[in-house]
Amino acid sequence: QADLKNTLLEINRLAANFFYYQLKQPSGKVGYDYFKEKRRLTDDTIRHFGLGYSSKVPDDLYRYMRSKGYSDDILKETGLFFIDERGARDKFWNRVMFPILDVNNRVIGFGGRVMGDGEPKYLNSPETKIFDKSRNLYGLNFARTSRAKYMLICEGYVDVIAMHQAGFTNAVASLGTAFTSQHAMLLKRYTDQVVLTYDSDGAGVKAALRAIPILKEVGMSIKVLNMKPYKDPDEFIKNLGKEEFQKRIDNAVGSFMFEISVIRSQYNMQDPESKTGFYNAIAKKLLEFPEKLERDNYTEAVAREYMIPETDLKNLVNSMGGLI
Ligand code: ATP
Ligand code: MN
Ligand code: MN
Ligand code: MN
Repeated sequence: QADLKNTLLEINRLAANFFYYQLKQPSGKVGYDYFKEKRRLTDDTIRHFGLGYSSKVPDDLYRYMRSKGYSDDILKETGLFFIDERGARDKFWNRVMFPILDVNNRVIGFGGRVMGDGEPKYLNSPETKIFDKSRNLYGLNFARTSRAKYMLICEGYVDVIAMHQAGFTNAVASLGTAFTSQHAMLLKRYTDQVVLTYDSDGAGVKAALRAIPILKEVGMSIKVLNMKPYKDPDEFIKNLGKEEFQKRIDNAVGSFMFEISVIRSQYNMQDPESKTGFYNAIAKKLLEFPEKLERDNYTEAVAREYMIPETDLKNLVNSMGGLI
């Protein structure tokens, strides 16, 4: 079993080198240009993250691995190939490639992106004996040695890379899956503060709302960065630059105030019934604080932020059971 894992790691490492080499070939120019021009990544960044390109030849990686002496049985275990009675094909074809490293800098899988608008936009290695998506975070191999006191959590490969390129080397992403409690425990080994930098779209807000209780569970202090008017860290930094991004980090709000702002967006303050619904919803939310002092402090903060008379909100919270 240990032997098998080592062989799978070896093949993934060879594949990463193969994709990196392809990127530098004339036939890989589409991939190289995509990274340089479309994504504005530097040669240093490309090398640092070991980015690559899977060619249009349908089985060149497969033939390369066979030439190195690996059997079909072992190659099947890597998830990098489709192998059956009719023949063998590479899984990744004409995509830019993102090798996924674990905290020990071992290549455990890949993400591959179409250059343009094809579907699926990202294709990832399947889970294998060496690749467990819920236990690895993209970028953590670098972020773990960052000096920052906190980690930035985002959604995408390119977001991590764009942030690192801009100097935010404390950025990580979950790998096209939801943030799990294993992810939270993994991060907790390195930090107890995080700033969520998820996409500003509905999916990103949902992802943040789901990650918050999971991070709280391990005792993490959580802030949420306001990405507007941009969609994600990559686009934000491209348009407004790193200084502005740093300001957004400095101004990130605590997860509770973020949750309240999401609740606020679901109500219409022009409609008395809806407005009452909003007050009740935030009062109920404030009851999540079991201790009176903390609850009172947050009640004051919410009242100030949303211009609700403080005594009204306190009375409402108390009437809902927050007396002690
Ligand atoms: P880009 O900037 O390259 O368009 P993105 O990272 O902004 O990509 P999103 O659509 O916001 O793309 O997706 C965030 C992340 O979710 C991706 O980086 C990838 O890890 C994962 N993902 C996106 N689409 C898919 C897919 N079809 N299958 C699996 N994972 C995906
Ligand atoms: Mn998204
Ligand atoms: Mn993006
Ligand atoms: Mn995105």
